[in-house]
Amino acid sequence: MGQKIIHNRIRCKICGDIIESRHRHDFVRCKCGACFTDGGHDYIRRGWEAGLTEIPYEEMDEFEDGYDIRQKVNMIK
Ligand SMILES: [Zn+2]
Repeated sequence: MGQKIIHNRIRCKICGDIIESRHRHDFVRCKCGACFTDGGHDYIRRGWEAGLTEIPYEEMDEFEDGYDIRQKVNMIK
């Protein structure tokens, strides 16, 4: 119920790619492969390449009501 994801979106700091998952099973990876987002407007599932010491992306999400339901996972392969 309630808060909707308007944009499930991140920008990779390494390659500059802006990627957006537009529906539930839309798994999108940036050009250089360092990060991904998934889940579309239903949930947010993110990850980045194992071995990176910091998260290689900036959040660019937009939520209705500003609610944050991010779930992060540290895996890509
Ligand atoms: Zn990238």
